[in-house]
Amino acid sequence: MSEPRHFLRGEMQEHVDMSRHVSWRAGGQVERLYQAADLADLAVFMQTLPQNEPLTTVGLGSNLLVRDSGLRGTVLLTHGALTELRLEADGTLYVQAGVPGAKLARFAAMHNLIGAEFCAGIPGTVGGMLAMNAGCYGSETWSHVVRVQVLTRSGELVERTPQDYAIAYRSVQRVDDDGEPFPLPTDELFVGAWLRFESGDGEASRQAIKALLEKRVASQPIGTPNAGSVFRNPEGDYAARLIESCGLKGHQLGGAQVSPKHANFIVNVGGATAADIEGLIERVQAEVEAKTGIHLHPEVRIIGEHKNHG
Ligand SMILES: Cc1cc2nc3c(=O)[nH]c(=O)nc-3n(C[C@H](O)[C@H](O)[C@H](O)COP(=O)(O)OP(=O)(O)OC[C@H]3O[C@@H](n4cnc5c(N)ncnc54)[C@H](O)[C@@H]3O)c2cc1C
Repeated sequence: MSEPRHFLRGEMQEHVDMSRHVSWRAGGQVERLYQAADLADLAVFMQTLPQNEPLTTVGLGSNLLVRDSGLRGTVLLTHGALTELRLEADGTLYVQAGVPGAKLARFAAMHNLIGAEFCAGIPGTVGGMLAMNAGCYGSETWSHVVRVQVLTRSGELVERTPQDYAIAYRSVQRVDDDGEPFPLPTDELFVGAWLRFESGDGEASRQAIKALLEKRVASQPIGTPNAGSVFRNPEGDYAARLIESCGLKGHQLGGAQVSPKHANFIVNVGGATAADIEGLIERVQAEVEAKTGIHLHPEVRIIGEHKNHG
């Protein structure tokens, strides 16, 4: 007799261009991409995976570059899959990992909760914001986390608190029983979080969101594909200021250009390969280090099997 089967309700695709799923609109293919129907479906999917299948979680790909040679294994796409968002009886917001930051910000304002406005400026998902400790204008994601919900490789749902993580500027690690930090395991992912925001004036919050978005449009190259700030700001300084002081604004490699509008952004001005973008990142890094002695660390994540110097 055959074993009972769980039917998967999501969508599996093969040989998918990741340029469709990252905001830089560049890069290679992934072998398989699964967009679950919902959290229960994703949990079942995890149980069907071969033990050695490499896994990568992707939200809106707004901080991500996949090398031109592509990515082995399966991408789990949370955007459009993990979409629940609700106000809990205790006043916290339960938000699933695939919900965009902008939606969270508007939902909080609608319920007269304030402090989530900064999320509107981050064009990623809540999962990506948790993984990056994304933030802007003096606020960051983990300041609001009460608990997170993670899904393990075996399909088990686990809840964790901020004490289980080492949180810093654009950096999130797990801590072991001795308090030692270690990188977030790639075989488990954030699937949801309970976030707390203060009660306040929702209308004022909506106005703040509007002002924040206008400020972004004025200062960032929003219309051209990019991945936000490429480098973390070094202690006490700004990466954009350093890059600009080295005369690199407008510097181009293939289809990749240091944005003339904001020096810490690299834009795809048309047909950029991942190698163009990565090559430009390295060139900026080398030039800034040679001229100022400061080593800039990338904030964007670059993944993929082989480095292509193309
Ligand atoms: C125009 C622009 C402006 C930006 N401004 C800001 C800003 O002000 N502040 C800021 O912090 N960032 C900013 N960013 C960068 C980016 O939006 C954030 O880092 C965001 O949190 C990434 O979310 P994402 O869903 O797109 O993640 P992705 O780019 O899809 O993934 C980023 C990383 O998170 C991991 N990840 C994604 N989802 C999960 C999950 N559910 N569980 C575990 N790991 C996961 C991925 O594997 C990857 O390593 C900006 C980007 C753009 C394009």
